[in-house]
Amino acid sequence: MTDGRGLLVVISGPSGVGKDTVIKRLLELDPNLKYSVSYTTRPPRAGEVDGVDYRFVNREEFEGLIREGALLEYATYDSHLYGTPIAPLNEARAAGFDIVLKIDVQGAEQVRKRAPDALRIFLAPPNMDELLRRRTERHSENPRDQTARQLIAQDEMELAPHFDHVVVNDDLERAVQEVLAIIRRVRERHT
Ligand code: 5GP
Repeated sequence: MTDGRGLLVVISGPSGVGKDTVIKRLLELDPNLKYSVSYTTRPPRAGEVDGVDYRFVNREEFEGLIREGALLEYATYDSHLYGTPIAPLNEARAAGFDIVLKIDVQGAEQVRKRAPDALRIFLAPPNMDELLRRRTERHSENPRDQTARQLIAQDEMELAPHFDHVVVNDDLERAVQEVLAIIRRVRERHT
């Protein structure tokens, strides 16, 4: 990241921790940040827009992207595939934008290997009960998904120490300010 290109910022953490809300707020507050829209084979939830929240594709299309080498990383999460396209990410960084990736912990581990200069931030819930409560509030998961995602979340929490920074999402604005301060510190070091 010493070549004047934008930063690669990975925001990870268990499902339901508030990654979407934190990222939305980061993008509102910092015009130098751009969001990397992932591909997924998961069906869209109510209100999700293709090309904005995700690029929704079928499994065959996703496998084609893997074969073409179009993805920086990809992972299976709760039986669906999710992956980060390389091209838009390189374009944004070449134009000087810092790009924000919302990915699960397996994907974050791949990014560490393939892009060691990435800044990796783990968002943690204040506690596991709060995580379950937030996901229940979202109403987007059926009971089977709820249980599966809570079990995945317990494993994911163990990987927090592998990240460059852990930020507890206890209060949205406080957590967002902490993440922004981290990004700005790293940005200053690299410009
Ligand atoms: P959701 O189905 O709740 O939108 O996302 C499920 C999980 O997949 C979340 O932990 C989310 O961060 C992760 N995810 C979203 N996009 C990507 C991606 O491009 N790559 C990886 N590895 N995980 C992703």
